[in-house]
Amino acid sequence: MGDRPTGKLAYLTEPENVKIQEYEVPKPEPGAILTEVEQANVCGSELHIWRGHHPEVNEGVLGHEVLCRVSELGDDVETDYAGEPIEEGDLVAPAYYITCQKCYSCQEGQFNLCQNAYENWSKSPEEPPHFHGTFATHYFIHPDQYFYKIPEGLDPSIAAGANCALSQMLFGLDKIGVEYDDTVVVQVPVVSD
Ligand SMILES: [Zn+2]
Ligand SMILES: [Zn+2]
Repeated sequence: MGDRPTGKLAYLTEPENVKIQEYEVPKPEPGAILTEVEQANVCGSELHIWRGHHPEVNEGVLGHEVLCRVSELGDDVETDYAGEPIEEGDLVAPAYYITCQKCYSCQEGQFNLCQNAYENWSKSPEEPPHFHGTFATHYFIHPDQYFYKIPEGLDPSIAAGANCALSQMLFGLDKIGVEYDDTVVVQVPVVSD
């Protein structure tokens, strides 16, 4: 090992089998950020993946709803994606998916369908920068990966879900045109195993 500190991550070797591994934390390149995980939520998708029910993902470093604290900023990172100044020590919530701006869907402006959305997620722990998921002591935010500064004092479990549970719900509501004071029917699927 070199002179970098180390961190630990949990990864899925196969459905229902989780291992913990230690790696040197990567030094962020220009545009990237190294963070320490404050709170990681367990998303419903991860339960499906853990059980082996996901169509594409069945191994790798998981976890994607996170509140984390900036420990090292790569060169050129001065603001978050809302234009808020960002410094070491700030709390941030990153989105784990990306919008690559290059694929057919992105070119058509359908960023929610980006074919490279999971480019940085659920990768093998052996592949640098190792910390691809948030079930870990550290999380690596790549250049061009959206992240937003979170004020101190918010409930961490709510802040951690902002870029998955909350944002996807809001996007869905926006897509179908539901507004405040509308009446809706909520169907809750019954999941049995
Ligand atoms: Zn999620
Ligand atoms: Zn794309």
